[in-house]
Amino acid sequence: MLTERLWPGNSLRNFHYLIACPQTGEALAVDPLDWQLCLDAARKRGWQITQILSTHEHEDHTGGNAGLKSATGAQVMSHAGAAARIGGVDRGLSKGDVIRVGRTVELECLDTPGHTMTHVCLLSHTEQPALFCGDTLFNAGAGNCHNGGDPAVLYDTFASQLARLPDSTRVYPGHEYLARNLEFTLDREPTNPDAATYLARARENNANSAPVTTLAEERRINTFFRLQNPAVIARLRQAFPDIGEHPDPRTVFIRLRELRNRW
Ligand SMILES: [Zn+2]
Repeated sequence: MLTERLWPGNSLRNFHYLIACPQTGEALAVDPLDWQLCLDAARKRGWQITQILSTHEHEDHTGGNAGLKSATGAQVMSHAGAAARIGGVDRGLSKGDVIRVGRTVELECLDTPGHTMTHVCLLSHTEQPALFCGDTLFNAGAGNCHNGGDPAVLYDTFASQLARLPDSTRVYPGHEYLARNLEFTLDREPTNPDAATYLARARENNANSAPVTTLAEERRINTFFRLQNPAVIARLRQAFPDIGEHPDPRTVFIRLRELRNRW
């Protein structure tokens, strides 16, 4: 599996992805808002874009579908429940469906509601798994829920699906918010040494060279994976004394998400 992360440099800080089969050159474009950038990158590598995936229905993920489809004839895919709202979808996806790219690439669809109620992540069947996670999980952060989502449902997605993926899983989100998210982690857990190290590095890098994290790293630097950490809970109680001494992880997640909304 060949993976290319593309940075259009727009104000929304989108990432687009091309996932290609090394044997046939067939490629899948994930959330190709700047579709011309994706097409140019594919042509440069000799790849043919045959499929397009929208992780969810928001315009900043779907707005390039029509242009890329008319330029390539690619098949457009999305969560089956979002297809009518997105429009122009050729294949509606459900949990467990497998997307094949060329001869060698297999991507499993995860049904991951929370940011929106119809959102898919793709998990590669490769020795080192890769997770293309749209606006569900970000490097060091979690998606917001104020445009059709629900933080309690997003918690369930984190706890029952994302947290169970292997440590080595690489995290490929729909936007670049690494430094901002690390600042939030440090605001919530000022003594987190890994977050401080990563933040110093993130400030040196430009967004295009932002690191791709693994889930092992996320468990150390992403406050939304550190729900039982005593420092996180102690600090959260300062903002929300009503949560008590031993809040359950769901409560911690929802309150952290609430703080992040206005942070
Ligand atoms: Zn979104």
